Amino acid sequence: MPTTPAPDFVRWTAARTAEAIASGEISAVDVTTAHLHRIEAVDEKVHAFLHVDPDSALEQARAVDAKRAAGERLGALAGVPLALKDVFTTRGMPTTCGSRMLKDWIPPYDATVTRRLKAADVVILGKTNMDEFAMGSSTENSAYGPTGNPWDLNRIPGGSGGGSAAALAAFESTLAIGTDTGGSIRLPAALTGTVGVKPTYGAVSRYGLVAYSSSLDQGGPCARTVLDAALLHEVIAGYDPMDSTSIDAPVPAVVEAAGRLDVRGMRVGVIRELSGEGYQPGVMQRFGEAVDLLRELGAEVVDVSCPSFTYALAAYYLIAPSEASSNLARFDAMRYGLRTADDGTRSAEDVMALTRAEGFGPEVKRRIMLGTYALSAGYYDAYYGSAQKVRTLIRRDFDAAFGEVDVLVSPTTPTTAFPIGERVDDPMAMYLADLCTIPSNLAGNAVMSLPCGLAPEDDLPVGLQIMAPAMADDRLYRVGGALESALTERWGGPLLGLAPSL
Ligand code: GLN
Repeated sequence: MPTTPAPDFVRWTAARTAEAIASGEISAVDVTTAHLHRIEAVDEKVHAFLHVDPDSALEQARAVDAKRAAGERLGALAGVPLALKDVFTTRGMPTTCGSRMLKDWIPPYDATVTRRLKAADVVILGKTNMDEFAMGSSTENSAYGPTGNPWDLNRIPGGSGGGSAAALAAFESTLAIGTDTGGSIRLPAALTGTVGVKPTYGAVSRYGLVAYSSSLDQGGPCARTVLDAALLHEVIAGYDPMDSTSIDAPVPAVVEAAGRLDVRGMRVGVIRELSGEGYQPGVMQRFGEAVDLLRELGAEVVDVSCPSFTYALAAYYLIAPSEASSNLARFDAMRYGLRTADDGTRSAEDVMALTRAEGFGPEVKRRIMLGTYALSAGYYDAYYGSAQKVRTLIRRDFDAAFGEVDVLVSPTTPTTAFPIGERVDDPMAMYLADLCTIPSNLAGNAVMSLPCGLAPEDDLPVGLQIMAPAMADDRLYRVGGALESALTERWGGPLLGLAPSL
């Protein structure tokens, strides 16, 4: 007897999944089950997840189906599976931040992002792998082992949120959440052929987001399409009195912008300083083609100079470690996290020192030392103070540029995904992956990475970065949506359709 094959739910978009569940065409339980099977089949190889919770995922899915059956109002993304970066607190579910310091920690409360996801009836599948405390560009700094890039498992998926992006690219989850302090949403998006957005600083609440560098940290959506990212953006963004830097203003209409598919008359600036030496030729080629396409679609493309961007990396690697050294002081074996070596004979200082030596990995220790040094008396002005001045110059460069154009573009990252292990012993080489992403964190503006093709020399995804002024997140989605639709037509389908099957 002929049997109809089960629908391939794991390849569906969030938009389609939510619609089909809301109309009763499919059940949330079937969608969740399909994803749990997929995770079981491939995650041993990918290692996108640190924790999968099938019971709670299925319970959430059953609740969605019951709500629908009872005719109750469903949340905006009811029944859509999501993978949450393990840096957001989840009540009753482990939150490790990729660190031994928080091994086995089960938070007593939900982050605002977690709470909003639950209120939208999203199904949280589990928590994703990340560089320890979000410090890194490759996910190799996780205390629980690296994540593989679904395009080539021997390569890194970018970081620090490599697990979230890999879960999307491996079709283990429909949506994901990341955080971006210096590029941790955009870098993994670029290297895995997915979409990632760092909203305007303050747009998404940091309450319950374990702090790395508080003046830079920002949560944001990860998805396989621009529209899906927009749908998730509208769920997680919005004012939160629990976060003192939260923006008290309406969220820009990003879903509507994603559907406009029209960039005629928009002014697009190509940043001169984010290209040239050190950029992989295939990355520049695909980026250049995408810019040409924007021109064909009716945008006006101009050259823009942002001279201070040259100092962005140096300033970031002083500011972020400085804030980190302060934020991580709370893991002192007394108030938060691990406590070891407390055998009753040791002094409190010894217990603190031994616990921190054991609980933190080498990159986190490096950042704490760098930051403590930069903030110390006698060096504060020379290092931290100068970095803050550079930050102001970068913001002024953006302001001047946005006086001329609606959005700015650049490659998201200078190269495609590099092999696991290649840069672990060379922190400078690792930091250079963040060259293009960091300016937007220092300035706090809105920014998106979306796939613009495969580099001809290695057949690996290339990301294009779109930057918009603070509070103008909708422009990212307008340009991103139009470009995505034109590129998809060119490729004859989504880029991930070209990925080698896992
Ligand atoms: N790679 C950068 C860092 O290591 C950015 C990390 C992030 O955005 N969380 O600090």
